[in-house]
Amino acid sequence: MSDGSGLLLDRSPDAARVSLGLVGGAPADADGDYLRVSDPATDEPVGWVPYGGAAQARAAVDAASAAAGPWRAATPDVRANLLRKLSAAMLDRTDALARVLTREQGKPLAEARGEIAYAASFLDWSAEEGRRVTGEYLEASGANRRIVVMRQPLGVIAAITPWNFPAAMITRKLAPALAVGNTAVLKPAEQAPLTAMAIAALATEVGFPPGVINVITGDADAIGRAWLGDARVRKLSFTGSTEVGRLLVERASTHLTRLSLELGGHAPLLVFDDADLDVAVRATLSAKFRNAGQTCVCPNRVYVHASVHDAFMDRVQAGIDRLVVGYGLDAGVHIGPLIDDAALDKVRVHLDDAREHGAIVRTGGRLGAPRAGLSPRFCTPTLLDAVTASMQVAREETFGPVLAVQTFETEAEAIALANSLPYGLAAYAFTRGLARALRVSEALDFGMVGMNETTVSTAQAAFGGTKLSGWGREGGKWGLEEFLEVKSVTFGV
Ligand code: NAP
Repeated sequence: MSDGSGLLLDRSPDAARVSLGLVGGAPADADGDYLRVSDPATDEPVGWVPYGGAAQARAAVDAASAAAGPWRAATPDVRANLLRKLSAAMLDRTDALARVLTREQGKPLAEARGEIAYAASFLDWSAEEGRRVTGEYLEASGANRRIVVMRQPLGVIAAITPWNFPAAMITRKLAPALAVGNTAVLKPAEQAPLTAMAIAALATEVGFPPGVINVITGDADAIGRAWLGDARVRKLSFTGSTEVGRLLVERASTHLTRLSLELGGHAPLLVFDDADLDVAVRATLSAKFRNAGQTCVCPNRVYVHASVHDAFMDRVQAGIDRLVVGYGLDAGVHIGPLIDDAALDKVRVHLDDAREHGAIVRTGGRLGAPRAGLSPRFCTPTLLDAVTASMQVAREETFGPVLAVQTFETEAEAIALANSLPYGLAAYAFTRGLARALRVSEALDFGMVGMNETTVSTAQAAFGGTKLSGWGREGGKWGLEEFLEVKSVTFGV
């Protein structure tokens, strides 16, 4: 779906900067329009990709289907070897990949490098775990029967990913799916597809057979419909908004296509009166302001015990005032641009609403270019005090560098506030009390809890949400399970 900023389509782009994707090991069909990918910080064109539709989607599935048999028959060791080679190639080219990522997505170069390493970690981890897929042998209730339970790949899987982590969202799906013997068709987001194209090119370079990985770009709605209308696609793994997730659930009903949905969050962060405030402040700042607050697990709603409110706010404000806003390729920058005009508008609307209803802007809150030559798509890191539950910023994900703080008096009240919204992706709490840490972990209705910690996404952990934040898990052994079918075979003996 278009993000509201308008698609920039072109029939004759700068040929030297066109990235064609990959279908069946060859460049994807580019007969038609091309989509211009722009640097959100400068509006300069970074490259062009084909604007395909249903025909490209079908061609990708044709290629993935043709490759599915041989790939499934290849041993786990062969698959693991290729995944490890792709990981190594990504790490070798970290700088080049990170520059593409920063230019199309905006995050500071140091963060982009970190994302490449994080993305590669899923390939390494799945390479190992893919060699440990096991079945079971069961005694049956009849003496002359035995049961063998097999776990087999699904066949062709589809993946649709968002723009905020253009490398990691790709490998977090691709790595487990391929490791256990599936082939893949993939559509990255229109704002930041070039990193995915570069990863696909590296996959070809390290020797992935044609058709195992197919990447196309274009009309998301048409591509999604084509994949969910094709019975050969056995699973769709989606990361993005709850709104599009709902649409995909409806469309998956045709063939009852299996779905994994990693959707929006609106993470609460609780600071109890017995918290180590230095730890809480450090963790809050790093989790909130990376990627300019455009992260689905960003703490957005901070609930602080009234007795530590002033100390917490002073320290957070001091930390925020040290953050530098600017162009992601410039040295020393911590906060880059928002992805597009619609994202900037959402931040503006949330800030206006908060101010109007009595929130206090402790620091930040300025929108616009931080220096000449940059687009106006920037927001200074913002600390809002005296926020109330009815403000927009407290109810919906802002997806920008805005930290909104409310106070509480009791543990029960904090938990009720945290659980009060229909989202359940990640939640965080800070306390030195062991019993409280356990009680609160159990009571938070979220797929992930960070206790005295805000780094919750790693290759080993299960990533995913409850309620409107989606279905299924990525990462760890759970991520591989999502791409396996369980088959029970009963033997008469
Ligand atoms: P979005 O609009 O849902 O887009 C995500 C992907 O879905 C893009 O590739 C987009 O393609 C595609 N898409 C859009 N409309 C579609 C349709 N009708 N059929 C099939 N695919 C369609 O999400 P966004 O606003 O860009 O991304 C931000 C959201 O993602 C936030 O809510 C965030 O919390 C969530 N997110 C969740 C996680 C997680 O793991 N839970 C991680 C990151 C982000 P085009 O770009 O081509 O339109």
